[in-house]
Amino acid sequence: MLTADELDRYGRQIMLRGFGEEGQEKLKKARVVIAGGGGLGSPVAIYLAAAGVGMIRIIDHDRVELSNLNRQILHWDEDIGRRKIDSASEKLKKLNWKIEVEAIEETIAVANVSHLVGDFDLIVDAMDNLPTRYLLNKAAIEKNIPFFHGAVYGFEGRTMTVIPGKTACIKCVYHGASTPGGKFPVIGATPAIIGCIQAMEVIKYIVGIGELITDRLLTFDGFNMKFAEFKVKKDPNCEDCGHLGGK
Ligand SMILES: [Zn+2]
Repeated sequence: MLTADELDRYGRQIMLRGFGEEGQEKLKKARVVIAGGGGLGSPVAIYLAAAGVGMIRIIDHDRVELSNLNRQILHWDEDIGRRKIDSASEKLKKLNWKIEVEAIEETIAVANVSHLVGDFDLIVDAMDNLPTRYLLNKAAIEKNIPFFHGAVYGFEGRTMTVIPGKTACIKCVYHGASTPGGKFPVIGATPAIIGCIQAMEVIKYIVGIGELITDRLLTFDGFNMKFAEFKVKKDPNCEDCGHLGGK
């Protein structure tokens, strides 16, 4: 049951068609892992916390730097030098004290990825590099956990939702070994847009409403202000999800 306070706090989304108090209860029970507390992780975490997702685990190994502040809106001037997980969990709890936030300081790697995603209900890709995305994609497939991919560069971003065994995974789509690491150009509004799309996908999935970005890659070009969509297919020979069969 939702409390009077929760009915008030979430009233405007409870009004949404197909959402209702039942949808809010589902959000309250949901447990979401956000891999990364930076440019994408900030808007994803903020909107999931605001919407009342009951349990958010945020994983990041970095400390806040001055050069993060143009886009990583969970972190402020006063946080420079702090662990991102501390800065993030403090802000999220201030935003919504009704939810649980668990912050883990780890570098996601082959050895710990399975443990870090645990038995959570959903995994959000808020990373800045392809090798870690591949690790998360593989863990999501192995554990049958829906995976919400997002990536940004400059004015451009892309996003896709993966339902293991049912829809294309990111390994069905990307075959590249890696993207160049290190610092790349980005304006804060780009991860804000992509992260908000990921957050909306997560909320729709949990509540069970709307159409998801499955079997299509949604791309955003902020420079020319265009969205585009590319149909993708589950690859029967995909090294991560091929063994699960098709639709
Ligand atoms: Zn695949």
